[in-house]
Amino acid sequence: MGKSDFKNGDGEEERSQEPVDVFWTGGWDSTFRVIKLLADGKNVKPHYIRDPGRPSTESELAAMRRLRELLENHPGVSGQLYESKIVSRYDYPAVEEIQEAYNELIKIRYIGDQYRWIPEYCRHEGLDSIEVSVESDNEFLRKHYNDEEYPFGVLFQSLEFPLIKYSKIDMKEWCEKQGFMDVMELTWFCHTPTKAGSPCGTCRPCIIVMERGLDYRMPLSARYRYHLRILPRIKGFLKRYSRIYAVLVKTKSELKK
Ligand SMILES: [Zn+2]
Repeated sequence: MGKSDFKNGDGEEERSQEPVDVFWTGGWDSTFRVIKLLADGKNVKPHYIRDPGRPSTESELAAMRRLRELLENHPGVSGQLYESKIVSRYDYPAVEEIQEAYNELIKIRYIGDQYRWIPEYCRHEGLDSIEVSVESDNEFLRKHYNDEEYPFGVLFQSLEFPLIKYSKIDMKEWCEKQGFMDVMELTWFCHTPTKAGSPCGTCRPCIIVMERGLDYRMPLSARYRYHLRILPRIKGFLKRYSRIYAVLVKTKSELKK
């Protein structure tokens, strides 16, 4: 990563009228990308694809509304944040060529099916390029994002990977320096939020947040669930202490509400 990538672009010269198309989920990485472009004076057109099977959809959309409000009034922003285009992944047709390429790709290594439906979306919308915010710790994509060989070439031809050499720490440092951490604190991270819309405390991103000592981002109930997530594993032990077990089970079921 060139150091110049981190400089706040000096504005007018870099300003272009055409917006940059970005796949924005309200999560840490894609929000960083949106911020970085806006701070550099670029206009941004966000895209979001609803996946009915994804329990975090409504939380992500709510997070993006809060983020947008903050960004629209942020002194560090000079580009314009366009209205988000939100579609469902069943609003546009599957493309056989892309499906086949994806099936080939997952024979090499499993990657999420967004690498099938984002290219299909681009094909349907006639988008030549959209940015996806994959960061440097994805070793497989870091190796292949520029690969023109089949099946990578078919899947990645319309995808740009501007953060592939950035780590989460790089992003954090830049945001601290440029005064954007207040925005980043509102990004969404949980994959399986509760019905009330708070982080679950037990999915992988929640566990990472807890392990990195960022537990202040979690409501108290999620912190309890995090600590109680080991309950099934120590069941045998606890059954010998049935009263403690009963209390823990009761606490856990109340926290699920
Ligand atoms: Zn979670």
